[in-house]
Amino acid sequence: MKLLILGGTKDAVDLAEGAAGLPGVQVIYSLAGVTQNPNLPNCGVRQGGFGGAAGLQDYLNAETFDAVIDATHPYAAQIARNASEACAAVNLPRLKFLRPPWTSQIGEKWEAVADIPAAVAALAGEEKRVFLAIGVKELATFEQAAGVPFLVRYIHPPKDGGSLTNAEVIVDRGPYTVDGERELMAKHDVGVLVSKNSGGDGASAKLIAARELGVRVIMVDRPALPAGEVIGRQSDALTWIRELN
Ligand code: NAP
Repeated sequence: MKLLILGGTKDAVDLAEGAAGLPGVQVIYSLAGVTQNPNLPNCGVRQGGFGGAAGLQDYLNAETFDAVIDATHPYAAQIARNASEACAAVNLPRLKFLRPPWTSQIGEKWEAVADIPAAVAALAGEEKRVFLAIGVKELATFEQAAGVPFLVRYIHPPKDGGSLTNAEVIVDRGPYTVDGERELMAKHDVGVLVSKNSGGDGASAKLIAARELGVRVIMVDRPALPAGEVIGRQSDALTWIRELN
């Protein structure tokens, strides 16, 4: 069985390694190719976009895949749509592997917003420093929040020197701890945290630190998923593969 795993997250790397260990399963792990020195699984790897849903469809046909697992990040909406469309067109089984979202706990002051523009709108008139823990792709949209001071964290230094004018910038790849996040937010006098609801343990330290410090949290909702089967646990995803094989 030849399996394409669309990746870009730690969960996807772990899943690819688990799947590659199954007897009779050949795994190709695919990355968009946007991160320097990405984590890679111990299996076949390809990098770079396919050229939309049509390009992915051609690739699936040419490389004779038997199934696709879309294990991309919950906010990678375009590749999720492309995977759904391409798999439907070539009649391949597709699974969405998606960790569950975080749920707000008592004491956390989360304000849910629908998307990044809504997060920008929610910051109107904010005078306290706003920690943007959302990745680099949508940073430029926050330029519209006039006068708001930001703290931006990059995994690697931005090529263009950064896209926000009113921002303090730090470069740190993690892993992040609650102590480290508390120290960072206190040092930069952060009053607001803007976060995506990524779920999982790796990125939750900032939320715990925010709760402890009484920092306002603006949580950007996940985009809608294409219809189809969704699994959150690696063991269940491996069962899905075994049952196809
Ligand atoms: P996106 O908006 O859904 O995708 C943009 C384009 O990037 C896609 O149309 C596709 O290009 C290419 N692409 C995305 N994932 C790919 C993959 N796994 N393999 C090959 N091509 C891929 O995605 P994004 O939000 O820019 O995220 C890019 C990557 O970073 C994803 O793989 C995602 O898992 C990872 N990531 C995203 C976030 C986030 O917050 N969005 C956070 C952590 C990691 P073509 O149309 O040319 O095929």
